[in-house]
Amino acid sequence: MFESIVGRKRKGKATVSLPFGNLPEPFRGMPVIDPDFFYGETAETCARICETQAIDPKAQTLDLGRCIFCGLCEEACGARGIRFSPDPHMPYGKREHLVIGDTTPESPIADRTLRSLLGRSLHLREVSAGGCNGCDLEAQALGNPVFDLQRFGIDFVASPRHADGLLVTGPVSRNMKEALIKTYEAVAEPRIVIATGACAISGGIFRGSYAVEDGVGSVLPVDVYIPGCPPHPLTLLSALLGFFARYPGKIPPSFPTPRT
Ligand code: SF4
Repeated sequence: MFESIVGRKRKGKATVSLPFGNLPEPFRGMPVIDPDFFYGETAETCARICETQAIDPKAQTLDLGRCIFCGLCEEACGARGIRFSPDPHMPYGKREHLVIGDTTPESPIADRTLRSLLGRSLHLREVSAGGCNGCDLEAQALGNPVFDLQRFGIDFVASPRHADGLLVTGPVSRNMKEALIKTYEAVAEPRIVIATGACAISGGIFRGSYAVEDGVGSVLPVDVYIPGCPPHPLTLLSALLGFFARYPGKIPPSFPTPRT
C-alpha cells in the first residue's frame, strides 16, 4: 500500500496543463506554408502528390478540411513550401476558416447567447457516421486522466436527449444518414453540430464515393469543423475550449479560468 502511494507520488500528475505544449513525435500538427517557396513548380509538385486534392497551387492554399496529414507534400517539396509543425492548435470553425495560405483565418468563438445558454456545461452525443473509428478513439481519449475533458465542464453522454449537440465523425455513409438525422432531431434546440476529422468535413479519402454523403455539412447544419485525420486529442480540446471560450486568453470575464 505504502509502495503504491510512493510510486503514485513519484509519477506526479499525468493531466496536461494549459497552455498545451507541442505534440510529441510522430504526430503532425499545424502545417506552415512558406510563401517564399510555395509557388510555381514546388506548389504544383505538392498538389500532384496530394491524394485528397487539399492543395490549390494557384491560390497557394491548403485546405485543412481535406488534408489527411499524410506528410507526402512535405516530403515532395523537401519541407520548403510546406512543413508540419508540432503545434496542436489548428484553425476550426466554419468551412472557410480551414483554408490556410501564408496567413491563417482567425477561428471564431460561439456567440454570447449560446455561451450564456450553455453556462459552464456542454454535453455532447457522439455519432460515428461511417468512418474508420480513428476520430472516435481520439475523442474517447479526451475522457482519460491525461486530457481530462470533464474538468472543463464538457462531457459525452449516451443519449441525444441529454445532449446539447452532436460530435460527428466519418464521411456519413448512406446507411448512416437517416440515423444521423434522427439523432440530430432528438437533441433539444438550440443544438450544436461539430464535424470532426477530414471525413466528417469533406468526405476525406472517401470523397466522391457513391456510398457516402461527402461529410456532415451535406446532411446537417454544422457549427464547428475540427480538422485532422484523426485530430489529436489536444487539437480537439483546443478547438472545443477555443470555440466555447474556455481557453486562457480567450475567456470572457463571465467564465472562470479552468481548473488545471
Ligand atoms: S499532408 Fe495533406 S496536403 Fe499534404 S499531401 Fe497529405 S493530404 Fe495532401
